[in-house]
Amino acid sequence: MTHLFAAVFAVGLVAAFAGSPAFAQTPRDCVAAQMSAMGFSPSADTWTDLKRAAIRYREQAPPDIESELPPFSARAALAWCRILGQKIPDLAQHWPVNADPLIFTDSDAAVAQAALLAGQKRVRKFMQTEYGIVLAGRYAVAAAETDRVLMRMVNKALRNQGKRGGRLNTDVSRFCNDRRVGGFAGRHFIGLCWPPALEGEPRYDHLLRSGLLPVLAHEMMHQAQYELTNDIPSQRMPDGSDFLLGPAWMVEGAAEYLELQFVTGPIAFEGTALFNLQSSARRTQVKLRDLRQSGAVSGGRAYGTARFAAVLLAQKHGGRALFDYFTALGTTLDRDQAFQEVFGQPMAEFEQEFETLRRDFGLAEAYGAK
Ligand SMILES: [Zn+2]
Repeated sequence: MTHLFAAVFAVGLVAAFAGSPAFAQTPRDCVAAQMSAMGFSPSADTWTDLKRAAIRYREQAPPDIESELPPFSARAALAWCRILGQKIPDLAQHWPVNADPLIFTDSDAAVAQAALLAGQKRVRKFMQTEYGIVLAGRYAVAAAETDRVLMRMVNKALRNQGKRGGRLNTDVSRFCNDRRVGGFAGRHFIGLCWPPALEGEPRYDHLLRSGLLPVLAHEMMHQAQYELTNDIPSQRMPDGSDFLLGPAWMVEGAAEYLELQFVTGPIAFEGTALFNLQSSARRTQVKLRDLRQSGAVSGGRAYGTARFAAVLLAQKHGGRALFDYFTALGTTLDRDQAFQEVFGQPMAEFEQEFETLRRDFGLAEAYGAK
C-alpha cells in the first residue's frame, strides 16, 4: 500500500511545482483552469471570483454551449467542467478523470490494479461508443477480500479525497462472499469485495471469472448517475420525502441494464431471451411503484423487476434515454417532470402499464418492437 500512496502524493507535488497541471484534482479547479485557458481568468483564488469569471464567460458563450450550461454553482461545477470539455476539446485536458486513478486494494496490488484499470477503461469506452456518454469526474475504487479490510480501504479512499471516512451506514459484509465479486457505490468511490485467490489460477483471470467486469459496469453506471444528476454530494427532493436520485427502480434498473448490455451485447428482445428477462419480473407481487423509495430495491426479484422496467424503457426509447433521465433529473429536480420530458408520459402511468407488461409476453414484445 505504501508505494501507492507515495506515488499519488508525488504526482500531486510535481503538479503543484510545475504550475500548470494538465488535469485538475477537483471540479472547481477544472472550471478555473478552463476559464483561464479561455481568457476569463479569475483574478483571485476565491470562489466568488471564479463564479464571476463563469458568469462573464456565459454572457458571451456561443448559444449551443450557453444553452447546456446549468447556472454556475459548487454543485454544477462538474457539469460545467464536463460540458466545456465536450464542446471545446482542448478544455477536456482539465477533467479530473484524467488524473491518476485512485485505487486502494489490500493484496495482489499490481495484478488487481491492472484488472481494475483495464476494466474501467473498457466500461468507459462502452459508454462512449454505445451511448455517447463521457464522464469528467474522478472517484476512487476500494477493493479487498474481507469486509474489515474493505472498510479500511473505503475510509482511506474517502480521506484521500478530503472526505471524512467512517460514515458508511452500510454493512459491507453482505457484499463479500467466496465466489463472486460484490460491489457498491458511493459519491466518491466504488467499493468491491472480491473472493480470495484460488490455488493455481492466475489472479487476473480469477477476478475476471468472478464477475469483476459486470460489477464494475453496474457500479460505474451509478457514478454516471451521480455526475449527470449533479448529485455530489447527495441531495434530497424539495419536499424532503426521499433522496432526489430516484426512483430506486430506475437507479438500479438502469445500472442492471448497462451491466447486461456490457456483458451480453444488444439484448435480444424476443423468444427465450425476452421470456427469461420477463421471468425475473413476473414472479413477485411487489409492484413497481412500491420500489420508488431509496433502498427499496433489495433481493433478486426486486432487481429483476427494476431491470425489466429499465429494459422496456430502453427498448422503446433507446438506451441513451436511461442516461438522459438523470441529466433531466439534475435540471428539473423533479422525478415526474424528468420522466415526462424523456419518456413522454407520466411516471405513474408507466408504472401502471408495467404491471401488465411484466406478465403478458405478447404485450411486452409489442411494447419493445422497433
Ligand atoms: Zn446498484
